[in-house]
Amino acid sequence: MGHSPSRRRTPLREFQLIEALHRRYGKTGPNVIRGIGDDAAVVASIKSHEMVVTTDLLTEGVHFDLKTATFEDIGYKAAAANLSDIAAMGAKPNYLLVSLAIPSSRTASEMHRLYRGVMSACRPYDVELIGGDTSASRHGLFLNIVLIGSVPVGCALTRGGARVGDLLYLTGTIGDSLAGLRLLSTRHGRKEFVLPSAKSFSQELTRRHLRPTPRLEIGQALSRQRLATSAIDVSDGLSGDVRHICTQSRVGVEIEVDALPISSALRAYADMNELDPIDVALQGGEDYELLFTVAPRHHKKVEQLGRQIDCLLSCIGIIKPPAYGLRTKDRSGRLRRLPMLSYQHFPLAHHLH
Ligand code: ADP
Ligand code: MG
Repeated sequence: MGHSPSRRRTPLREFQLIEALHRRYGKTGPNVIRGIGDDAAVVASIKSHEMVVTTDLLTEGVHFDLKTATFEDIGYKAAAANLSDIAAMGAKPNYLLVSLAIPSSRTASEMHRLYRGVMSACRPYDVELIGGDTSASRHGLFLNIVLIGSVPVGCALTRGGARVGDLLYLTGTIGDSLAGLRLLSTRHGRKEFVLPSAKSFSQELTRRHLRPTPRLEIGQALSRQRLATSAIDVSDGLSGDVRHICTQSRVGVEIEVDALPISSALRAYADMNELDPIDVALQGGEDYELLFTVAPRHHKKVEQLGRQIDCLLSCIGIIKPPAYGLRTKDRSGRLRRLPMLSYQHFPLAHHLH
């Protein structure tokens, strides 16, 4: 097959980039039979395990903005989002493929910074880069990651296993990432003065937005010990993601708003901006915490597990019959329909170009 004209214009750069990536990240373990450099990667399969595969496509101007995030940040977050999907399945991540569509305005060093971010998110989990694809782009940068993981046969956590009476748990705190995004966006829009007292919480919130931690350890422990009946990672926001569990498990839910884990940084942010932190927590996406359900008889074991691996766990509600629907309960016992809030990328549309 002949080369298309657009490929002919950039072959040297593409080749050089792949060569450099191969040199930098190509040293893989014995399970990678062929990695970067062949027509396709070849990896050893593990009997007793099932393969878990996930992919994410990130588009400049939709999922990330080069005005508020560095290339390292973008690479890190793209990898973390995929790692979080693997965590939500209770699996261990093994291999990674990265595909790029690069506009002519971008440099090789910027792409290397992107990979540095990707690989720094993967390094703690020994995930190996085994390939990818590279193309020119006429409309911004595109970044696609494929992550391949594994889980013991039959142990994958799905969205579909929650049963009436199960307890609903959440790792970490939620809403921080949305607050961090808003801080980044307003800071970019007008050079506002951040009060010294607000500095440390705003740093913490923007860090949560740009550098989320995938919850791999707890995900794997829950699946190995068969403690969770269902799981999902909070990427669209609690109110949307709990809906996925309810739909796929055909159940309802009651969420106790007082039990929602809210960080002191989010409280400070909400105070200063006259917001209700509960609204931010229900709506906020991209926290990459795990939301999972547990049979009541296992609740002590789960809480012990959380302490063991030093992961904050909060019981935030209970699974109800489907006719109950999705409700929140406040301190005074008043029930409300769970609001349909969904996380929007870049709520401040004027920052798009
Ligand atoms: P093909 O023409 O068969 O798609 P490529 O020239 O695109 O081959 O890729 C050559 C090798 O480099 C393959 O092993 C591929 O997986 C790897 N590769 C290409 N682009 C990337 C990338 N952006 N990141 C990592 N590996 C890449
Ligand atoms: Mg290719």
